[in-house]
Amino acid sequence: MRRLAALGLAFIVGCQSPDFAGDSAGSVPGSDFEGAAFEFEEVMEGVYQARGTGNVAVGSNAAVIINDDDVLLVDSHISPAAASALLDELREITDKPVRYVVNTHFHFDHAHGNQIYPGEVEVIGHEFTREMLASGESVGRTYQGFQEMMSTQPGYAEGQQGLVPTPPTTTLSERMTLHRGGREIRLLFFGRGHTGGDIVVHLPRERALITGDLLLPGVPFMGDGFPMDWVETLEELKGLPVDVVIPGHGSPFSDLGRIDALQSYLRDLWARAADARSAGLTAAEAAEQIDMSDHADDYPSITGPGVPFPAVTRMYELMGG
Ligand SMILES: [Zn+2]
Repeated sequence: MRRLAALGLAFIVGCQSPDFAGDSAGSVPGSDFEGAAFEFEEVMEGVYQARGTGNVAVGSNAAVIINDDDVLLVDSHISPAAASALLDELREITDKPVRYVVNTHFHFDHAHGNQIYPGEVEVIGHEFTREMLASGESVGRTYQGFQEMMSTQPGYAEGQQGLVPTPPTTTLSERMTLHRGGREIRLLFFGRGHTGGDIVVHLPRERALITGDLLLPGVPFMGDGFPMDWVETLEELKGLPVDVVIPGHGSPFSDLGRIDALQSYLRDLWARAADARSAGLTAAEAAEQIDMSDHADDYPSITGPGVPFPAVTRMYELMGG
């Protein structure tokens, strides 16, 4: 896997696509930061993961799929500024125009850059994702719950100015296949999971799977999840030809045992939340007391009792309050 240091704006002057004429970086609130926003890792020929450098808040990773004549991006980051920065810095690896952006799900850190894309760029997501972004849910409970934590990240507050949550322009309910030159790109929905509408992007020939937050190296956020559906949805991923997973947070990985690890975590947390609820514990008490240390081999960040409050709150909610 090749690592490229992003070179920033100077490099791309003169080779920016006419589709994005105009200095998008200069005019978008929050674009005034030093250095590069992204580093690109070439996972395989023409397929990259773009990860934030920390110079400015970008939220999720993006995946970049360079086709014969165009580019497909997976996810649009946490702000218009972050999405603009990706477009600019992308010129370091390709001069082909971006034609497609896929939203893996509606969460703010994956979809709040949508608005910068001009009409000729198709933004594709699940019907549920469109509904959530159109109804204001992407700035609802989960977004509000993260504001305090996010406010400590560089450029985050500035990047939220001018935000207009923008839904996908093209939706799917189960699957869609794009044939772009020699590349086949499958967008697949296998059921509810991390949200009600997560899609994965599968490159069957390259045996690559881009998972958004449905499957991560760590434990994903569960506050909008459907834990037991999620277990079933993950099972479906095992039927795909996959050598490498490109996740929405964290680095690419090849250990598909991580699917079992997450299924096992979800089942156990659900069962323990149900026990806590039966025992009369509040969600806050349960979040403090539930011990998932037996999953620490899979998730080394677990060091003792205590699980995220939004996960337990969500489970209680699904169990009937
Ligand atoms: Zn998410």
